[in-house]
Amino acid sequence: MEIIKDAKELKKIRKNLKGSVGFVPTMGALHDGHLSLIKRAREENDFVIVSIFVNPTQFLEGEDLDKYPRKEQADIEICKRAGVDILFMPTINSIYFKDELKILAPQIRGYILEGAKRPGHFDGVLQIVMKLFNITTPNRAYFGKKDAQQLALITQMVHDYFLDVEIIPCEIVRDENGLALSSRNAYLSKEEKKRALSLSQALKLGANMVAKGILNVKAIKEAMEKELLKSVDKLDYVAIVNRAFEEIEQVEIGNTIILVAAYVGTTRLIDNIWI
Ligand code: AMP
Repeated sequence: MEIIKDAKELKKIRKNLKGSVGFVPTMGALHDGHLSLIKRAREENDFVIVSIFVNPTQFLEGEDLDKYPRKEQADIEICKRAGVDILFMPTINSIYFKDELKILAPQIRGYILEGAKRPGHFDGVLQIVMKLFNITTPNRAYFGKKDAQQLALITQMVHDYFLDVEIIPCEIVRDENGLALSSRNAYLSKEEKKRALSLSQALKLGANMVAKGILNVKAIKEAMEKELLKSVDKLDYVAIVNRAFEEIEQVEIGNTIILVAAYVGTTRLIDNIWI
């Protein structure tokens, strides 16, 4: 496995790769969720490129950029063992420039839910993903459904900017109790980890209501909120939208996502289920 730190150098190497390239962008502190994306990329492509970059432009003032978990050595080992061909760990100066032009998230979809709580977050996500796509020019790029809104916006960017990459959505990987794996779970104490299970449990409750034929979004949201408020410290939102992230009044089976975002202690967690 080659470790590349310079964007232009990777671009040169990429040009000489003959065969399909699968790309998995991450912020590191790799866990089994990331690994499932890497494994899928490994299965479906001749070459696998993984990037690890804690992208400053997607963090808002006062967010956890400085304390975001960094586990460089362990990450390198995980990538090696998973058969990654190229690990891209860019230096900030090789990837960002002074007074550079910006990519803006769409004004509606980019500013609801995660975008409402973290205004500007998706501008930074799309900016770095556009750069990474242009550096690695992958045939396929792998993203987790865990970050459902991010996945939808990246899919939209590929469409709106006529990019030549296939976006592959990957299932959410959970621990044995149902907690969606996340690098930020490292912030949780033992007691908080227990309370954090309420997110996936509330989603299950919502899905069970749908299974019983209750399709009214308001009723499902109310039941889920009631459950969540027993355990979380602050509920940011329960939302039920269609796959295009538009508001709906009735669940459309096969076209709906139920999402939750909540604080447990000082840690902000998100989770969702596709119905
Ligand atoms: P991150 O390092 O948090 O930016 O995540 C990198 C990629 O891994 C994103 O596409 C995430 O959606 C995906 N990912 C993170 N956690 C999970 C998980 N538990 N299951 C599946 N994919 C995940």
